[in-house]
Amino acid sequence: MDGAAKNVVHGLGDTIEGMVVTTVALPVTSTRNHGIGAVGGDIHNVLVKLETDGLTAWGEASPWAAFTGTAEAAAGALDVHLRPLIVGRRISETAQIMVEADAVLVGHPEAKAALEMALYDLIGKAANLSVSELLGGRVRDELPLSVSIANPDFDADLELAERIVDDGGRLFKIKTGVAGHTFDLMRLETLKKRFPEIEIRIDYNQGLTPIEAMKFVPDIDTFEPGFIEQPVRAQNWEAMKNIRAAIRAPLVADESIFTPADALRAAKEGIADAFSIKIMKSGGIRKCQEIASIAAAAGIAGYGGDMFETGLAHLAGVHLVATAPNISLGCEFYQATYYLETDLLETPFPVSNGKITVPVTPGLGINIDEDKVRHFAIDQQN
Ligand code: MG
Repeated sequence: MDGAAKNVVHGLGDTIEGMVVTTVALPVTSTRNHGIGAVGGDIHNVLVKLETDGLTAWGEASPWAAFTGTAEAAAGALDVHLRPLIVGRRISETAQIMVEADAVLVGHPEAKAALEMALYDLIGKAANLSVSELLGGRVRDELPLSVSIANPDFDADLELAERIVDDGGRLFKIKTGVAGHTFDLMRLETLKKRFPEIEIRIDYNQGLTPIEAMKFVPDIDTFEPGFIEQPVRAQNWEAMKNIRAAIRAPLVADESIFTPADALRAAKEGIADAFSIKIMKSGGIRKCQEIASIAAAAGIAGYGGDMFETGLAHLAGVHLVATAPNISLGCEFYQATYYLETDLLETPFPVSNGKITVPVTPGLGINIDEDKVRHFAIDQQN
């Protein structure tokens, strides 16, 4: 009998035996200007590898210092503070482990997102279910993909847009509020004229003061963008309400909402028509589900937001968006395909015809290429 039981190769009771934390430096194809901060050269993300006797799973923290935190802090949080919660635990204890993670460590949402993502990958592989199946099943099998226009060299962005429209992409988000209102209007007008078939959204990444916003955002609104995201600083909730009342386009809150408690208050105060929901700022899929549920109850839509992620973190977002009915405005998991010099997945992140196909294989659905991790690694803790 014992022998027969051992033939059940992997199960939810399996013990996590090892955890490896690796920081990678990933070259990117261009500089990107985003409201309050720019990104270029390379991005530093932190990978978590969990191992049982026979299974390997991965998670990723993708911090942005101007928005959520730093790679150094994420690596330290995982290695020093979260590691003791993991090694020796059963993978079926995932929810309890994440409760403990919140108890021992305030903040650090990217580190917690990475850990939870790896645990879900592990449960999925043990149970032979994709993460979206673990979450209760998909309400959509394909996600419309939005790509951001954020290059200070607009001619380079026009070439990128041409390529994406040829690939079937129809959603674009212009990052505004960095190089002046005239530049923003010029890009909006040029893109609308050159690609009449696309929907354009706007994201200020907190780039305007409330006074500037009352002057500039109504101009942008005349172009009928799909939505306008976070024109003012995260804490300027009164200004968000005033802008929302002054424009026709839906107003999206991103940096204003990190936690479910933020979402509840934002829904009560009516600061936005939609929330950008991101695993990295909220600390994982479970927290994002709570935010999506609060939004749904308030009649607020969701948008699948992300940070400067590889395909790995994108996959966690994909499974979340695939299972949340009101995250209905598409997603922006484009960096693996259109921004990184090299992604880390074994097979390409599944984008075609402007849409992401949700993987149905167990766990997150696509494994990491460990040779690429070794190639780009700059630091590692075992
Ligand atoms: Mg945003």
